[in-house]
This record gives sequence, C-alpha cells and structure tokens, in this order.
Amino acid sequence: MNKENQGKFYITTAIPYVNALPHLGFALEIIQADVIARFHRAKGEDVYFLTGTDENSLKNVLAAEENSKKVEDFVRENAESFKNLKNILNLSWDDFIRTTEERHTKGAQKLWSACKKEDIYKKNYEGVYCVGCEEFKTPKELINNHCPEHPNSDLESVKEENYFFKLTNYQKKLEDLISSDKIKIIPETRKNETLSFIKQGLQDFSISRSRARAHNWGIPVPGDETQVLYVWFDALANYISALGYVDESEKFEKYWQNNNFILHVIGKGVSRFHAVYWPAMLMSAGLKLPDQVFIHGYITIEGQKISKSLGNVIDPKEITKKYGVDALRYYLLREIPSYNDGDFSVKKFEDRYNGDLANGLGNFVSRVLTLGEKFGGIDSLTYGQNEILEKIEKTKKLVDEKMLEFKFHEALACIWELISYGDQYVNEKKPWAIADNNEKEIVLANLIKIIEEVAKLVEPFIPETSEKISKSIENNKGIYKVKKSENLFPRSN
Ligand SMILES: [Zn+2]
Repeated sequence: MNKENQGKFYITTAIPYVNALPHLGFALEIIQADVIARFHRAKGEDVYFLTGTDENSLKNVLAAEENSKKVEDFVRENAESFKNLKNILNLSWDDFIRTTEERHTKGAQKLWSACKKEDIYKKNYEGVYCVGCEEFKTPKELINNHCPEHPNSDLESVKEENYFFKLTNYQKKLEDLISSDKIKIIPETRKNETLSFIKQGLQDFSISRSRARAHNWGIPVPGDETQVLYVWFDALANYISALGYVDESEKFEKYWQNNNFILHVIGKGVSRFHAVYWPAMLMSAGLKLPDQVFIHGYITIEGQKISKSLGNVIDPKEITKKYGVDALRYYLLREIPSYNDGDFSVKKFEDRYNGDLANGLGNFVSRVLTLGEKFGGIDSLTYGQNEILEKIEKTKKLVDEKMLEFKFHEALACIWELISYGDQYVNEKKPWAIADNNEKEIVLANLIKIIEEVAKLVEPFIPETSEKISKSIENNKGIYKVKKSENLFPRSN
C-alpha cells in the first residue's frame, strides 16, 4: 500500500429498488455498513460512505402503475422514505444517490461508452425474464417453470434484439482475481460459490432492453434511442457515478481510482452481479476494481421469508419508536450472524433487549455511575491494576480483529464479556462496603475506566448509547466526576 492510499476507505451498500418501502432486510445491510464506516472513522481514516436508491427498474414502473401514480412521483416519494432512514436508524452516510439523477444518468452512459467496442454487441435473444430478480433465467435455474426466488410471479417471455456484454472475454481474468483475493470476497463460502459459478463457464449477458419493454422508463443507450440500459448495468454504475465519474472529479480520483480500500456491502442474492459482472464491466472500461465484497445473509421474520404476501413486513420505524434506535441496531448486529441467515422474532428481540441491554450494559453503567456520583471526585490515575488494563487491551484487540472480518456479532460478544467482567468486579469488590477511602477510590477508578472504554468500543454499533455514557463521565485534569445518566434501556415489561 503506498502512503497516499493509507487511511482512505470507500464503502457502499447495494441500492434497493423503490417499489416498496424499506424493510428490515435493508435495515440490516445499511446498519452493517454504517458500523464499518464508523469503526474506520474512529481509527482516523478518511471514510466515504455511499448509499442510494435504484429507480430505473421495471419493478418500480409496475408498482407505480399498480398505485396509479406517475413513475417519477412514485419513485421520488419512496426514495424519500429511504432517505429518512438516516434519522430513523442513526446512519452516517456521506452521500445518497438516486439513479434518476443526472450525475448518474450521464455517468452510466459514460461507462457504457468507455467499455471496449469488442465487448458490446447486438444479438437476437429469446428467453424468460424474472422481473423480481430483474434477470434472465436459464431453463436449469427454474423450478416448475418459476423463479425459485419468486415462485408466485409468472416469468415474462422475451424475444427481441438487445445489446450483450461479452463476459466470456473475462472468464480467466475473473477466476484469477477472485481466487487470488485481489477482489476479496468475504466470507469464504461465498467466495467459493462465486468461483464455482465462474468455473461452470460464464455466458455473455444482456445489457439493454427495448424502450417498449421498459415501459419507456430508464437510461437511453448512447447512440441508440430505441434501447435503454439493462437495470444492472445501470445500477452498478452508481458506485462511480456518485463520486463524479462523468467529469472525472477529484472525488472520483481520490476514492475510486487511487484508493486501495473499496468495499461493497451486499446481500447474497446479488453477489453474481457485484463479484462477476461489475468487475468485468470495470475492466472493460479500464477502471480500478473494488478490493473487497462483503456478502451478508438474509433475515427471516419469525422463521419465514420477508414477504408482502405473508404480511410479515416489519417497518424498522415501528421498532425504533418503541425501543429506541440502538435496541434495533444492537439486535440486528448481535443476533444475526453476519455471514449467515438469521431470524427476527419478537421473543428473541425482547430477550436480547432485557438481557443484554437493560440488565447487562444498562444495569452495569447505572451501578458504576451511582457509586461514582456518591463518592465525588475520583483520581483517575489511581486506576491501573494491570489485570484490568490488560483485559481492556485484550478486548480492543479482539474487537479490531473481528471488525476487519466483519464479524459484528462476535465483536459485540467480546465487548459484552468485558461488561460482565466489570459486573463481576463490582460484585467481588463491593465498593459500597469498603471503609478505606483510598481503596474505594481505586476500585471506582477502575470501574469508571471500564465504562469509559466500553463507551468507545460500542460507539460504531450503538452510537446514541455511547454518547450518553461518555457525557456522564467528566475527566478534568485527571479527576473523574461522574453523574448518573438517564436510564439507558428502560425494561420493556
Ligand atoms: Zn426471480
């Protein structure tokens, strides 16, 4: 890594379709990305965090028609509810791109034009298309003539002339990039899946559709007004169009072309597009490739897939209204194993809330602050029992390791171990019963040191709580003065 690159970090989420309002599945992804962004910012790195909305897909058009709205009004209204997540979920993104913005339209067209001429060709095509996936399906991918991901929707038969991208030109290069970790796919299981998909033999893919089939919605193909860009060619371009690719702005040069840490956070359903199609498009256009792709699993609700027809779609806003934003952030990061699928259930949510947050962190902080407030000024330099400092250092190191592997649930488990260690220390030392004031001061200083460090460690995960804890500890020239904070997590029942 050269000097100039050190400490730059560009992180993106996939951009959701706006055919429906945000649900818990996207909340999971954007919160994970937010934790990574905050973690790297806290390390002093120059972080740029991007999210946005995918507005040019056929799905959006059909949903607008169903709601008897003009497509542009429909997508604008729904994009607003995605933007509102910033406040609802306390997210720290730097930019939000809508793919109907001019910077994107022009950027996506520029990417098309920058691809090598021999990589784009026209051909007659006949096949079945799943609007749910926005993807052509091959016969062997179907189950009972339906898309396995969308068994309740009929497939569309398509016969038309489209532009194709010559993915077959990149077969060997993609295999090398991924097997050598030049593009590192995390976790390993997803890397292996991607590799075996590539090894089966890649096929060229359609990158446009007729204007008629697109219901006259989408980005025109440069030089051919009868066709619009295929939704994936269009959507993937957001990662560079948002940085100002169209006029090769300074930001684009800084965070894309001259960066050694570009990370895409995505769900397992779109891994093929990000780990295979996207690098090929970038190579064709002569652009820098992403460095890492982190692929998370899906979230189920009470054991079932999130689906409108099952009526189990949970609005993240409802949960944060009742329990606070940090309770939701904590649950999604702690309960859902970051590499696999996980479940949301009201029972498990309340167990985590009452157990880990109210009785765990909340109770420990409240005990320490109550004792500390009663004591008055505490010399912070009296802490320093090696055992305690060692425990803190060990926890920090472990959390760093887990975070670089995106194992959020394990990082939190390490922090919670420090919390129970502190709790046990209170129980053993019984500071309220210590008669000697010097001895008592040392114990309290140790405890305050622990919650001070816990506040820093939990900041990327539950920033609001972290701030509340930090605010109740004042350190004036080495003298701690603490005051009881408001109840961090009022018991839910
Ligand atoms: Zn599908």
